[in-house]
Amino acid sequence: MKEKKVYIYTIGCQMNVYDSEQIENLLQPVNYSKTDSLEHADLIIVNTCSIRAKAEEKAFSFLGRASQIKNKNHQLIIGIGGCVAQQEGEKIFKRVPQVDIVFGTRAIGRLPKHVTEIEKNRERIVDIDMSVSLEDDLYPITDYQTGTDISKFVTIMRGCDNFCTYCVVPYVRGRETSRVPEAIISEIENLVSNGIKEVTLLGQNVNSYGKKEGWCSFPDLLSKVNDIDGLKRIRFATSHPKDLSDELIQAIASLDKLVKHIHLPVQSGSDRILKKMNRHYTKEIYIDKVNRLKKAVPNVEITTDMIVGFPGESKDDFEETIHLMKTVQFDGLFAFKYSDRPDAPAESFMPKVYEAEKKDRLKIILDLQETITRSKHQEEIGKIKEILVEGYSKHSETKSTEPSTGKKVQWTGRTSGITIVNFIDDSKPGQENEKLTGQMVKIKIEKAFSHSLWGKKNTNGYTI
Ligand code: SF4
Repeated sequence: MKEKKVYIYTIGCQMNVYDSEQIENLLQPVNYSKTDSLEHADLIIVNTCSIRAKAEEKAFSFLGRASQIKNKNHQLIIGIGGCVAQQEGEKIFKRVPQVDIVFGTRAIGRLPKHVTEIEKNRERIVDIDMSVSLEDDLYPITDYQTGTDISKFVTIMRGCDNFCTYCVVPYVRGRETSRVPEAIISEIENLVSNGIKEVTLLGQNVNSYGKKEGWCSFPDLLSKVNDIDGLKRIRFATSHPKDLSDELIQAIASLDKLVKHIHLPVQSGSDRILKKMNRHYTKEIYIDKVNRLKKAVPNVEITTDMIVGFPGESKDDFEETIHLMKTVQFDGLFAFKYSDRPDAPAESFMPKVYEAEKKDRLKIILDLQETITRSKHQEEIGKIKEILVEGYSKHSETKSTEPSTGKKVQWTGRTSGITIVNFIDDSKPGQENEKLTGQMVKIKIEKAFSHSLWGKKNTNGYTI
């Protein structure tokens, strides 16, 4: 049987990255292997995101490119999955007639069947059924080939019950549903036995993991994952501030493999706007939780999301956001201009903030964060940091470890927080260096930049 090629284009969050890996894995038994060439693909899949208008535009612009290829190659199959597919359903065929399959956020498990059917009958398929259970839709990767990867995402739950007024996730990903702990543990054990050293547990709101189902709590799950032999680090995202419990704070403080980092999206510093966003906390509550975190975990790194220009956001509201940022001193910021999303309640909220004003506000907070990050990075100079090595740095002069070249190999990794550290290893020239990827090493920080740190591995390169 001829081996066929699938090209997968992923837009959006880490959960979509995980889903795309699932898609790749699921399509193997029906004879598809991945290609990086759009022109040589027999099947093109775009895995979409509808959280912001820009991401949706990106999906349709990509479909435009794929359609041009299909106009020359009529055998090509085009599929669209993810949030836009769930939201738009068969309306997509009207907009892009070259599309063959529209599959929603809980239809990934049925994709191979749909592709096989289209190969035979050439009839369009729409599958946006959300009634399937999570375990029936997710297929743990069992014969994972690591290549050079040391880190993987693992989805532990899907959907959301929070209904923030600017967000479409509860409508396109459905209600909150958690995977059984045993399935998660066995997936991670499998990844670890294939060389993975770090996992990031994913969910829209991991803090409420298992609550509905009456399974273990999220901190209990973290503790089980922490016990997996061979795993070196655990990350997780995302936490809703209203559900950040003392139990989770204690887990961050005490579990040795859990990174000392939390992504805690605040979205605004104004109580008035937080209420309109339906976030269920005030600025004061948020700051109190941050203070409790910092007290229990003194070296904790906190990152956040911020939306500027939410309908009705006045200059005073924006000042509250600036004040919150100065108070908390975040370690990283993902900031966005508010955009209306169809089906999200805030679409009808007035008055809208002018685009130019949103742009100005975005620049102000990004500049502020850059100043904060740079100053935090400066404070790291001279300190010894524990790094999980991810591989060669893109700045490396060479990937050869042969000392006779006279060139230095530069490595990259991350701290127990989110900071990227590039470093050179002077201590062990030669083939030993090849083994650094996936190891924990101690690095002395010598230089600080806006987005990374730079250092040297100590003599004899003691590994941990
Ligand atoms: S918590 Fe709010 S922003 Fe996050 S996915 Fe749920 S509804 Fe969307």
